[in-house]
Amino acid sequence: MNKKIIIGNWKMNPSSVTDAEKLFKSIKKSLVKGVDTVVCAPFPYLQSLKKIGVTQNFALGAENVHFEKEGAFTGEVSTSMLSSVGVKYCIVGHSERRAQGETDEMVAKKVLALNKIKIIPIICVGEKERDHSGFYLNTVKEQVVASLSLIPKASFKNVIVAYEPVWAIGSSALRAATPAECHEMIIFIRKCISDISNQATAHSTRIIYGGSASVEDAGAFLNFGMADGFLLGRASLNAKSFGEIIKIASINISK
Ligand code: PEP
Repeated sequence: MNKKIIIGNWKMNPSSVTDAEKLFKSIKKSLVKGVDTVVCAPFPYLQSLKKIGVTQNFALGAENVHFEKEGAFTGEVSTSMLSSVGVKYCIVGHSERRAQGETDEMVAKKVLALNKIKIIPIICVGEKERDHSGFYLNTVKEQVVASLSLIPKASFKNVIVAYEPVWAIGSSALRAATPAECHEMIIFIRKCISDISNQATAHSTRIIYGGSASVEDAGAFLNFGMADGFLLGRASLNAKSFGEIIKIASINISK
């Protein structure tokens, strides 16, 4: 069984560094040994949050990165900049960035750049919609295979794949996926990884679920859904919900 990981994606929230520090401190109170917890925060907050205190089990993540090392890329940040402020994880290929033009090729380059500096990429994959013929499986397969195409197979175990069906994300979501839908996709993603590496590697890659996950359904996603954890949007902005989901993950590992 892979170690559970609960990752918050704060997106463009909260609106001030003071509020960010307050939320981070509250989340810190809910940490549980045996469950990795990560907060992916806006760039301007990272340094202040690091000062509050991070550990191997409570790490900082970024929400995006550029794949080039340096240069004329106004508004972008590099992997070494992230590393220098203590970032250990970074989201890539989030659907909100894909909607702004992030391609599979860019995701692959970002994964490579992060892998080189030992920041763990959280690779978001997921279909925009489902169809009865199962074409959505091809979309996810293409995203998984492309995103891993530039790194050595030995590094696959150092990435996290987040299955995030686009239709299940955010306040305009149709609904969360069901634990059964999550289970099916996690098996499918492991098969995609196995096909380009081997079974052992595929099993050691952490695959998590994201999309309207909540305290109510977290246990089912971890048990029946076979998720190794969550990428949480809205639930990560509420320290109580975030903390309860961490607790549910810890109950799940001690069974
Ligand atoms: C996300 O955007 O990555 C996400 C999972 O959001 P939410 O949990 O709010 O659906």
